[in-house]
Amino acid sequence: MDNATPRPEPSVSIPLVVALDGPAGSGKSTVARRVAAALGWRYVDTGASYRAMTLAVLRAGADPADAEAVVRTAQAARVELLHDPRRPGVRLDGIDVSEAVRGADVTAAVSAVSAVPALRALLVTLQRAAIGHSGAVAEGRDVATVVVPDAPVKVYLDADPVVRAGRRAAEVDAGVRAPTDQAGRHEAVARDLARRDALDSGRAASPLLLADDAFHLDSTALDVDEVVALVLSLVAAAGLGSR
Ligand code: C5P
Repeated sequence: MDNATPRPEPSVSIPLVVALDGPAGSGKSTVARRVAAALGWRYVDTGASYRAMTLAVLRAGADPADAEAVVRTAQAARVELLHDPRRPGVRLDGIDVSEAVRGADVTAAVSAVSAVPALRALLVTLQRAAIGHSGAVAEGRDVATVVVPDAPVKVYLDADPVVRAGRRAAEVDAGVRAPTDQAGRHEAVARDLARRDALDSGRAASPLLLADDAFHLDSTALDVDEVVALVLSLVAAAGLGSR
């Protein structure tokens, strides 16, 4: 090539991914689905894959605390994430289990199952395939740190624990979430969130962490529309939305 010939720009491939992490009840699912729908992108609920594997473990009668049994079950189970933001869901061995994975039994066991490193490795491969290359908003606990560490937009969505418990209890009352307990609904929800926060943040394998380069968005005093608008403005600032 002579000096007069313009050189092509080096092609840098930036994944079209918004990574949205945060604790339970922070509003991740609602925000991620709305942002994905607005962009025409996929919505990938990584938590649903951990829940589906937990359902497989419970149905197999295995002990969620027995790492070897968990991995054996996971290797035999087929989990598929349905990534349409308007009709998200998850299948286990070809059957839609989107409702079953929200049950109290799964919620009680999922943090133990998801602490098993070999199970996480299996599911991270599956989650990356679901994210694909045509644009995705992926939510979870370790999307920005492990699943897509080069995501150009990383948001850590948080809210005051009392506000998170209130929002989750309202979802239970509205029939959107299964109750975790029969008695003292609000207290039961608050207890469950605190328990999962501690387990998900304290585990050795891919704990819930605020990535150094993530935007820390505290939604305590914001409504959903405001949070969605903020995330979309981060996407636009990264030059991604119109591609
Ligand atoms: O997001 P959701 O609350 O449905 O996630 C259920 C559980 O799955 C979490 O409490 C956590 O134990 C696990 N999880 C995880 N890593 C992710 C997403 C969820 O360990 N990326």
